Amino acid sequence: MFENTYARLPPRFYSRVDPTPVAAPRLIKWNAELAEQLQLQFNSSDSQHLAQIFSGNKLLAGSEPLAMAYAGQQFGHFVPQLGDGRAILLGEVRGADHALHDVHLKGIGRTPYSRGGDGRAALGPVLREYIVSEAMTALGIPSTRTLAAVTTGENVFRDQPVPGAILTRIAASHVRVGTFQYFAARGDVEAVRILADYVIQRHYPEIAGATSPYLQLLQSVVARQASLVARWLHVGFVHGVMNTDNMTVSGETIDFGPCAFLDAYDPDAVFSSIDHQGRYAYSNQAPIAQWNLARFAESLLPLIDADTDRAVAQATEVVEGFSATFEPLWLAGMRSKLGLEQAQSGDAALVEQLLAIMQRTAADFTQTFRGLCALAGPRAAVPDLGPCNGDPAFNEWLAAWQARGEAEKRTPLERAALMRASNPKYIPRNHRIEQLIVAAVEAQDFALFEQFLSVLGRPYEEQPSAERYTQAPRAEERVLRTFCGT
Ligand code: AMP
Ligand code: MG
Repeated sequence: MFENTYARLPPRFYSRVDPTPVAAPRLIKWNAELAEQLQLQFNSSDSQHLAQIFSGNKLLAGSEPLAMAYAGQQFGHFVPQLGDGRAILLGEVRGADHALHDVHLKGIGRTPYSRGGDGRAALGPVLREYIVSEAMTALGIPSTRTLAAVTTGENVFRDQPVPGAILTRIAASHVRVGTFQYFAARGDVEAVRILADYVIQRHYPEIAGATSPYLQLLQSVVARQASLVARWLHVGFVHGVMNTDNMTVSGETIDFGPCAFLDAYDPDAVFSSIDHQGRYAYSNQAPIAQWNLARFAESLLPLIDADTDRAVAQATEVVEGFSATFEPLWLAGMRSKLGLEQAQSGDAALVEQLLAIMQRTAADFTQTFRGLCALAGPRAAVPDLGPCNGDPAFNEWLAAWQARGEAEKRTPLERAALMRASNPKYIPRNHRIEQLIVAAVEAQDFALFEQFLSVLGRPYEEQPSAERYTQAPRAEERVLRTFCGT
């Protein structure tokens, strides 16, 4: 069932390592729909068998487990060796989409890259990653996915003993900007080239025959990241730890440690407990993505041109083009959120005005946009728009937006439908994630997890019985900080 293309790369790309068996694996959740997309033939009802496999206790035939080597810039500081310290790649499988997908277990014990860590994962962060990665997918945002979660029957020690768990992550690949940096920092240009060729073949086959394939690779990754970050902003997502080792070259969102979705709109919102400078604040994500891409470009320089000055000039131009790609994508998405399809010169200002009002009134990001949907079409009742309600500047803005909407070709009803497809009703709000984690960790109760996961699978649809999941946290429910939980 496995192809092992990464294992065929030179041995200095990884360390071969088997998972360390765990005491009593128990399946919490199996993503049968994803398994089908991956053409995995498992008996979904044999949870004991699945638990053995997706805890790493039993290795599947054909798997050649390995821990990948990578480096990374963490909060701006370069760490020449990170690597999979608690994860292994079992191999790749070919999905119904004909593409290869990495099957990767996280929390399987120590590897040569563990440094001081225990190689394990705690149940809380595993549930968080399951929920958020699947929610992102349902929102239509490229993301790694979760195939399975198991508890290990062992405790791991964080601030206190907590249940251990293992997550099966599926990714287009786990090649990161930091993977390139790992070899570039060692002056191993040959490895950078092998890696670049691998990535082109796997993710960007259309550029394989180009005259400057490596410059094209940079260009392609810049484009995918610009699109990704624009989509994050459209749903109020704060990644929280955009280190270069947490940025894929495939353009998928990866690493859901300290991430959170905005409740009240605040461009400076930071949730990660270790982000003291606000480096990874909501509105800083595009500039940081560009900064990370500059690090990617540096790693590729020797491949771009033998003449360093020429290579720098070409790479700089491409990295500086990030904004020119990002801005229109961001604006187009914001237009859709407002039910507008035609571009007009005042659109950016219209969006900025709304955001300024939302910031001043601390309006809920998701509720406000979803509430606006009802104002585009014929309406029975004016929705509650929270703190914006009655704000004079907001009323003025509403009138301007509705006048702008009349310049559109589509009917109000169609515009309202476009808006509902662009403004989710259900997002993985942090306080709900905390609640389901507490229930699971303290009472082995996974009902809230199951319920929330199911609601988040249809984020744009009205689900009358799930109304409570649309609510912002009450003061005492608010989660101000999230922790990496490693
Ligand atoms: P992360 O914060 O998950 O992006 O991880 C950053 C680095 O720390 C990666 O090299 C991880 O493999 C490593 N790491 C995180 N948690 C652990 C752990 N519990 N044991 C060993 N290594 C870890
Ligand atoms: Mg990471």
